[in-house]
Amino acid sequence: MAWKTLDDMDLNGKRVLVRVDINVPVEDGRVTDTTRIDRIVPTVDDIQAAGGKVILMAHFGRPKGKVVPEMSLEHVAQAVSDVLGQPVTFVDSDYAAAVAEMDEDEVLLLENLRFNPGEEKNDADFAARLAGLGDVYCNDAFSAAHRAHASTEALARLLPACAGRLMAEELGALEKALGTPDRPVVALVGGAKVSTKLDLLGNLVTKVDHLVIGGGMANTFLAAQGIDVGKSLCEHDLADTARDILKKADAAGCEIILPRDIVVAREFKAGAASEVLPPDACPADAMILDAGPETVAYISTVLDNAKTLVWNGPLGAFEIEPFDAATNAAARKAAELSKAGKLVSVAGGGDTVAALNQAGAADDFTYISTAGGAFLEWMEGKTLPGVAALG
Ligand code: ADP
Ligand code: MG
Repeated sequence: MAWKTLDDMDLNGKRVLVRVDINVPVEDGRVTDTTRIDRIVPTVDDIQAAGGKVILMAHFGRPKGKVVPEMSLEHVAQAVSDVLGQPVTFVDSDYAAAVAEMDEDEVLLLENLRFNPGEEKNDADFAARLAGLGDVYCNDAFSAAHRAHASTEALARLLPACAGRLMAEELGALEKALGTPDRPVVALVGGAKVSTKLDLLGNLVTKVDHLVIGGGMANTFLAAQGIDVGKSLCEHDLADTARDILKKADAAGCEIILPRDIVVAREFKAGAASEVLPPDACPADAMILDAGPETVAYISTVLDNAKTLVWNGPLGAFEIEPFDAATNAAARKAAELSKAGKLVSVAGGGDTVAALNQAGAADDFTYISTAGGAFLEWMEGKTLPGVAALG
């Protein structure tokens, strides 16, 4: 799909409505992590450099269409100003007057979009009111693009629309990983449950050459093949589904890689006694909490021969040592290959990003998506409404 970027737009003297994601963590009225704000800087700078006026629109928390004072973007305005290095005027009412009076180099931040019930309903009237405030629409919130909301979907159809720098970067990285990737492509999918990742697995088996299944999900696949997984996390009711996915992979020529050895323990706590066993040897009173060294060695070989990696979900219960070993080892291997320019690696997912950071591998990945739900829906092969509306 083709979308316009800021470079395709005439911004000089134009009021640019910029949808951003500044849904940052706030504790005691203070922003504790500015990462999301840091990432909007290139878009704001480039619009201003091209002579445009920046009007920021965003959501914050889940106020569900009502005014919830604790969820006012007022609490975030100062942090935005600090990061941008310029004054930011927060506006909680009479947007039209504020926009009419705004200076060339002033940045406006509108109140939490979700205070208005029209936002999450993708309401045409609310979108039209927003459209009246600007000349150009720029969406820089990939992480909100899986929702058809007024500020991400309807509004994009009312004004000349383009992707901001962060959105364009994210779309470019994702396209390179699954759209038109260099092959072989490896997908690594782990995490707790198959049930949350069915669409993802179904899509990936048709697109990738090797699919590594790890984490609690792997237990469901082992059980579906008649293996006793003891007290492991396992969705026994999804045995048929797991077998269908294996069949679909076979038909598509996708190699499924399940654990070749397992790390088991009786207790799920740090430093619990653990042992490495063959995948079919989990004792009845134990649980599988990680993949073993043989599995890691095989994944490393597959990565050595691959050109592209997409990763969602840890290979084991990485929050607790020593069950982070397989995730750490695979993460470091992928990081090393990426750093050497041999692998394009893209990863996303809340726990995945945490795991890759913990492994010290995140910085060397080609691209780490912090988009959460939008990243997963993209991995599922779904069309994201906020991206489609830019086309
Ligand atoms: P993401 O947030 O990146 O999409 P998930 O939420 O799907 O990832 O999965 C992360 C969770 O999966 C972690 O909390 C981790 O402890 C859990 N997990 C991984 N392997 C196992 C396992 N073998 N048994 C139990 N939980 C596991
Ligand atoms: Mg998670």
